[in-house]
Amino acid sequence: MTAFIPYGRQSIDEADIAAVEAVLRSDWLTQGPAIAAFEQELARRASARHAIAVCNATAALHIACVTAGLGPGDRLWTVPNTFVASANCGRYCGAEVDFVDIDPLSYCLDADALEAKLSSARSTNTLPKVVIPVAFAGRSCDMRRVKRLSDEYGFTVIEDASHAVGASYAGRPVGCGDYAHMTVFSFHPVKIVTTGEGGAVLTNDAAWAERLHRLRSHGTTRDTARMDEPNEGAWFYEMQELGFNYRITDIQAVLGLSQLKRLDEFLARRRALVKRYDMLLKDLPLQLPQLDALDDSAWHLYVVRVPGDRAHVNRRTVFDAMRSAEIGVNVHYIPVHLQPYYRQLGFKPGDFPHAEQYYREAISLPLYATLTDAEQDRVITQLKRVLG
Ligand SMILES: *Cc1c(COP(=O)(O)O)cnc(C)c1O
Repeated sequence: MTAFIPYGRQSIDEADIAAVEAVLRSDWLTQGPAIAAFEQELARRASARHAIAVCNATAALHIACVTAGLGPGDRLWTVPNTFVASANCGRYCGAEVDFVDIDPLSYCLDADALEAKLSSARSTNTLPKVVIPVAFAGRSCDMRRVKRLSDEYGFTVIEDASHAVGASYAGRPVGCGDYAHMTVFSFHPVKIVTTGEGGAVLTNDAAWAERLHRLRSHGTTRDTARMDEPNEGAWFYEMQELGFNYRITDIQAVLGLSQLKRLDEFLARRRALVKRYDMLLKDLPLQLPQLDALDDSAWHLYVVRVPGDRAHVNRRTVFDAMRSAEIGVNVHYIPVHLQPYYRQLGFKPGDFPHAEQYYREAISLPLYATLTDAEQDRVITQLKRVLG
């Protein structure tokens, strides 16, 4: 029996375990000092002024949208090639969700398509309030143009960088706020660093950071300076708006803090594995990932495309043969607009042809920091056998 190789998994070492154990033995399981320490380190790593850690990236996207003022009657645009959470956050706010097709080479938001859609939305008075570009596989889209269009059309940019902790764009860390008003990270175990479940919003805007903090904790504040009414004593707090319990625990935050110490090591290993894939797969009939010169990807995913023009070897046959060989390939992503929930809202096949064509051909190969060269060789050998 050969061991199953997943497409992604966490790397937990003794230091991570010791850090979590220390919190378990301490006075604070939640709302203690580990959360602020984790947030500070996240902000420092990403060159952002503020980081607000929450229970998962889906919650982070939700409160980022609330903070951007998104509500009923407003519009949120994202890409179809993402996890459903990038779109659902708009629906949580009662906003209409629409999509912008992807670029067929980067698999990220196509800035030309965005510009064309904005221009026609202006004439029908249906401009979006929020646009969520996704740093797919760990690389940003053309964020310079997204920023320019945001300046021109007035929408808020929330970059869904769930895949891109530790990545950089145009020489600066993703999350620094040069091109996005808010950036969201995920710390799910398959992502770059993990807290079990966890997410964060990064921003340089102090008022927004304040609001994100409040929304994380039921919309309440204990800060006298921010209260509407006089502070009645040390027990007093005010609920100033309808918030949520989106708190992360100290158990999780300390794990995240410990994992961030290993971020560079994780990124280096992912990049080394990508180099090997690039080199060892280059003669196969596959489209390998292509990066823009501006991107230094965090390499959450290594996606290859199996061209759909050969009858006997297609994405489905390759996927099934790899899975039969105990190799956990996966597919990222089923276009969000084709999910039954979004079809009920009026979307249909053909709406976003690049995302749909990409979806028919895409396979994510195993990629994670603890993947060994020998395991990667097994993936490559099997892939060659299937495509041969
Ligand atoms: C993982 C992921 C999310 C959701 O993250 P959670 O932390 O699991 O809520 C959102 N967007 C993208 C692109 C993701 O990959």
